[in-house]
Amino acid sequence: YLCANLCTLCMLFLISVKMFLPLSSQAYLSKFYRDLNATKFRSRMMPDLEDELKAMQKFFGLEVTGKLDSNTLETMKQPRCGVTDVARYEHFQGRPRWKQSVVTYRITEYTSQLSKREVDATITNAFQLYSDIIPLDFKQIYSGTADIMILFKAGYHGDFYPFDGPTGVLAHANAPGPEQGGDTHFDEDERWTLSSRDINLLLVAAHEFGHALGLEHSNDPLALMYPTYQYINTNGYTLPRDDRLGVQALYGKCFL
Ligand SMILES: [Zn+2]
Ligand SMILES: [Zn+2]
Repeated sequence: YLCANLCTLCMLFLISVKMFLPLSSQAYLSKFYRDLNATKFRSRMMPDLEDELKAMQKFFGLEVTGKLDSNTLETMKQPRCGVTDVARYEHFQGRPRWKQSVVTYRITEYTSQLSKREVDATITNAFQLYSDIIPLDFKQIYSGTADIMILFKAGYHGDFYPFDGPTGVLAHANAPGPEQGGDTHFDEDERWTLSSRDINLLLVAAHEFGHALGLEHSNDPLALMYPTYQYINTNGYTLPRDDRLGVQALYGKCFL
């Protein structure tokens, strides 16, 4: 038994020597690129780091070297969404979506960095990006259980995905469904703004609501559902084409 453990340790050592991956990069790959199905029959202790690195480089359109080059390292350092990039589909598996015509949401904990009124207005605007183009309406409620429960909280906040302090993961959301389905969490350790400074709440909320409506990450760098954060002017902002097509494929078009 001891010998088996020692062997595992040796192999881990060999793998890390072979890959020269710093622990922070290994953590990034295990968080966003570990394909649970692929490692099911292999020891969870021995992920194929090179494969994961290649999958990540392919997703971001980087040169697929399987090595931790400077472009790859830069990409890993960018602030991003906490949902994984493994399933590169337009929709979550099984295409979950809301079946009702009105989806309710409730903000249970606000950020201390913006006024309540600013947060309410920004969340309304983020949902409106979708209700403008699909036959779905969103209604804010102030008590009881809503379809989409929203909160701002740092660190551990009641699920298996504690937040990680400033930058890194900014927020995450669940696919549509009962119970926690659609629930959307924002990392209170970020500096939330309504401008180009720091992290713009409208852009992150609109991205997370894409997940809450059934959209997966897109590898189109112009898409809102691209996994990393990038500021774009939010004045008169409408959903990019890729996201519009993705969400209309689930809910149909809105005929006003
Ligand atoms: Zn995301
Ligand atoms: Zn969470």
